[in-house]
Amino acid sequence: ATPTAIMVATGVGANHGVLIKGGDALERAQSIRYVIFDKTGTLTQGKASVTTAKVFSRMELGDFLTLVASAEASSEHPVAKAIVDHAYHYHFFDKQSTAKGTEKQTKEGKLSGWLLEVTDFCAIPGRGVHCLINQKRVLVGNRNLLMENKITIRNEAESFLVGLELNAKTGILVAYDGIFIGVIAVADPLKREASVVIEGLKKMGVHPIMVTGDNWRTAQAVAKEVGIEDVRAEVMPAGKAEVIRSLQKDGSVVGMVGDGINDSPALVAADVGMAIGAGTDIAIEAADYVLMRNSLEDVITAIDLSRKTFSRIR
Ligand code: ADP
Ligand code: MG
Repeated sequence: ATPTAIMVATGVGANHGVLIKGGDALERAQSIRYVIFDKTGTLTQGKASVTTAKVFSRMELGDFLTLVASAEASSEHPVAKAIVDHAYHYHFFDKQSTAKGTEKQTKEGKLSGWLLEVTDFCAIPGRGVHCLINQKRVLVGNRNLLMENKITIRNEAESFLVGLELNAKTGILVAYDGIFIGVIAVADPLKREASVVIEGLKKMGVHPIMVTGDNWRTAQAVAKEVGIEDVRAEVMPAGKAEVIRSLQKDGSVVGMVGDGINDSPALVAADVGMAIGAGTDIAIEAADYVLMRNSLEDVITAIDLSRKTFSRIR
């Protein structure tokens, strides 16, 4: 392709809200064989919400929610935000319908007055958080987090967890003072266009793969819903780039679509990194393409544009 053709393609991309950082990236996209999709915030809307909270101890639901929200208040994870929001609504809207507060509170307003004092807060990537409340250790996160801390999950809770994971929900487990006390189920719906885009990619001869830090059962349920057969779950943040490098070993050109801080090493490792425009700045910086409309359809737009631009000279 001539420099003019590349300039024209870059302009066409920009009109679709597809920002292309350079002619090399534009050229590589035509040969993409695999596209790796991050799950949370990329295939899903990234708007997690709590669907159920179940206490498996003598603690009252309200106290349980306050405890968990207090532990999660300093976390930036979408799961944490969903939990804090849910607890806040439980206390100020659902129970007392006469509550004077308005929905549009500042973050500080939302967090003041009802949360417990937390010390020793620590976020563990791909696992969850832990902290001290009333001098007792609180753990909030996935099975691996509880297992690593030698917390026993009761059978009754285990079957509850499996049930919600089979329905594509993520179960967040809670332990207090060394004892498992409950589960919070979080759902994050798929983006509307996701399945159509996956089908489209397959028709173009591109193999889609989903990669996530979430557990296997939930990951597989989401993948099935969206039409992806190839899933890599329970991948630690650093592992996403590793998945890409192993696919590149036979010379395959690999694209990666992601939105999170966790995704940036993978976006760099990929031959073609595509960041969701609404994603974090770090992801946007790491990518070769930025999809400003936040629509997965533009993954297809990007590959199409490259194919059309470069086929003319073959
Ligand atoms: P993803 O690839 O889905 O964005 P992450 O690597 O961010 O996943 O997290 C993997 C899993 O670790 C989550 O599905 C959740 O179970 C758990 N987790 C991570 N951070 C938190 C948190 N702040 N609170 C509870 N659970 C968390
Ligand atoms: Mg994500």
